[in-house]
Amino acid sequence: MSIHSASLVLEELLQGNLRFQKNQSSTIINNKEFLNKDPKAIILSCIDCRVIPEAIFDQGIGDIYVTRIAGNIENKDIINSFEFACDYKGCKVLLVLGHEDCGAVTAVCDDHKKLFTNLKPYVSPAISEVSNSISFADHRSNFISKVSEKSILLTLDRIRSKSAILCDLEKSNKIKLVGAMYNLETGKVKILN
Ligand SMILES: [Zn+2]
Repeated sequence: MSIHSASLVLEELLQGNLRFQKNQSSTIINNKEFLNKDPKAIILSCIDCRVIPEAIFDQGIGDIYVTRIAGNIENKDIINSFEFACDYKGCKVLLVLGHEDCGAVTAVCDDHKKLFTNLKPYVSPAISEVSNSISFADHRSNFISKVSEKSILLTLDRIRSKSAILCDLEKSNKIKLVGAMYNLETGKVKILN
């Protein structure tokens, strides 16, 4: 991308912000009544530009916390954000949202060497499990989908084992930890657990 086209992209973003300020946004309403609202949920999703939690769940400003990382896996900092959202701000649902056709999961399945060295240890256990029942070579897209699903459930397990705060909140029924898969074509979110 040339510097010129980068400038155009930035200009498009700023034009979008102008529309938002004037409440002419095509996606989210900028309503001042949301300013002091307590969010009800925190969602961990992939950075994929087609997977926008606020849009998928039709939530506005102030409704949900969103944290995003390639492959929707947890790490120390993300767990700190979960604890803040659930223990301090009173969120009721912690949802790990994966999606079909995930480029990050695909890159790990493809054993991409340069990218995702940090992501690989998180996704590899799911790959090992799915490999027991499905062949990557013969059923590539189904394999990747199953790895994404399994990885979400393993992410939830790791969140429980890494955070005593979240584990206790779940055990005392103050929060729900939920895994879900988003289908890009239908728009449907399927709950996994
Ligand atoms: Zn993805």
